[in-house]
Amino acid sequence: MVTLQICSIAGQHAPLPALLLSAAGPCWFRMSTHSESPLDRLWKEYGAAFRDFDDITLGRWLSQTLSQLAGHSWRLSHPLLGAYRLAAQLAHERQIWLKRTATPPAVYTDSTCCRAPLLPLFTRDIVDAGLICQHCGDTCVPFDDIPAELQAEARAWAQKYSPLHAVAHWDDAQRKKCGSYDGAMDDAADDVEELLATAGRDLVPKFLEAYPAIVWEDQDECLEVRPEDIEL
Ligand SMILES: [Zn+2]
Repeated sequence: MVTLQICSIAGQHAPLPALLLSAAGPCWFRMSTHSESPLDRLWKEYGAAFRDFDDITLGRWLSQTLSQLAGHSWRLSHPLLGAYRLAAQLAHERQIWLKRTATPPAVYTDSTCCRAPLLPLFTRDIVDAGLICQHCGDTCVPFDDIPAELQAEARAWAQKYSPLHAVAHWDDAQRKKCGSYDGAMDDAADDVEELLATAGRDLVPKFLEAYPAIVWEDQDECLEVRPEDIEL
C-alpha cells in the first residue's frame, strides 16, 4: 500500500470532532501507522452491514452501484461513495474481483493495483501519489500515466494547493514569524476552499474523458476544511 506520510504530523494537532470528518469517513488512503480512532471504529461498525452479504451478493451490489457511478465525478463525502467504499474494501479483503465472482460494467477496465474495476480518487497529493484506488487504497494510476493535458492542469492546481496546505504544518519558527497563525490558517483554509471548488467544478470532471467515473477529495482535514465548506 502507498503510505502517504505527508500529513502524518496531523496526528499531533488537536483531534477534530469526529463528525467533522465522518462525512467522508476515515482518511483511509493516508492511514499507515496510526492506531484505530473512534471514527475508524464507527466506520467499521457501518461496514458490518455488508458482512452479511455473501460473495455473489456483494459482487452484484458493487457492480450495480458502479453502473450508477459511471459518467459522473463524485465527492468523496457522498453517502453513496461512502457505502461503496465500505463494500469495496470488504470485497478487496475477500478478493472478489480476483475470483471473478462478479462482472463489473464493461466500461470499467481492471486496475493494475488489485484487479478491481478502475475507480480513481483525485487528491491533493496527485503529483506524488497519482490517482488512488477506492478498493485497495494503493495508487491505481501513477501520475505519469495520466493523459498529458490532465497532468499539466493537475500539476498547476497542486502547485497552488501545496503551499496553502503547508500552513497547517508550519513549525514554531514559521508560526511566530507570521504574526497571527490563526489568521494565516483561516486565510489558507479560505483559499483551499476555492481551490477545491475549482477542482470539483472544472478540473476533476475533465478526467471523465479518460476514466469511466472519478471521485475527488472534498475536504482538507489539516486545514479543517469540510465538504460543506466547498460550494460548487
Ligand atoms: Zn486497487
